[in-house]
Amino acid sequence: MGWKCWIAGLTLWVGVTGWEPAAAQTPARLAVQVFLQDDAGVPADALEQAKDAATRVFALSNIDLRWIGHGPYQPCSLTVRIMAAPIGTISRNRLVLGMAPGTREARAIIAFAFYERIHYYAADLGLNDSQLLGHVMAHELGHLLLPYGGHSLTGVMRGAWDGTQANQATLGLLTFATAEAALIRDRLSACVSRIARE
Ligand SMILES: [Zn+2]
Repeated sequence: MGWKCWIAGLTLWVGVTGWEPAAAQTPARLAVQVFLQDDAGVPADALEQAKDAATRVFALSNIDLRWIGHGPYQPCSLTVRIMAAPIGTISRNRLVLGMAPGTREARAIIAFAFYERIHYYAADLGLNDSQLLGHVMAHELGHLLLPYGGHSLTGVMRGAWDGTQANQATLGLLTFATAEAALIRDRLSACVSRIARE
């Protein structure tokens, strides 16, 4: 099993080009239901702001995140579990802020965000806890929806964050690249049509 991870890189990049939000080219709107399980005791207002930040990342690519705190769940729903810290030896690297398990053949349906690490690195990136938490959740949800090896050099799916990502997050501009958004939308469309046939 491979683990995709979010790593908070603190190096500063400038002059990144060739990336633009995908919203302008994707008119049809799709939705994904997300069950949020907070086991870290995130303050209620910070949790709401984090959900808003993640929702915005997807909305910029014309995809709706619909947060739920309990069932019933749709067959294609995903789960984000916020944990204070990873359990056991899953990740001893403190730069890893979240995980989404999966293999080349199959995606998982649950992703994790590690709140203590997010709290620790948020200030270094010039973000507040909820901003970083929200973007980590969006990144990990991206892994669940994209093919294996879903990191890119720019946008929310960059594996190691830098000043460019942090600035775009602060401005509420960070989202998926056009090709990534198309893959997510294909995935969601396939799920919807599969359910319709069942
Ligand atoms: Zn990642």
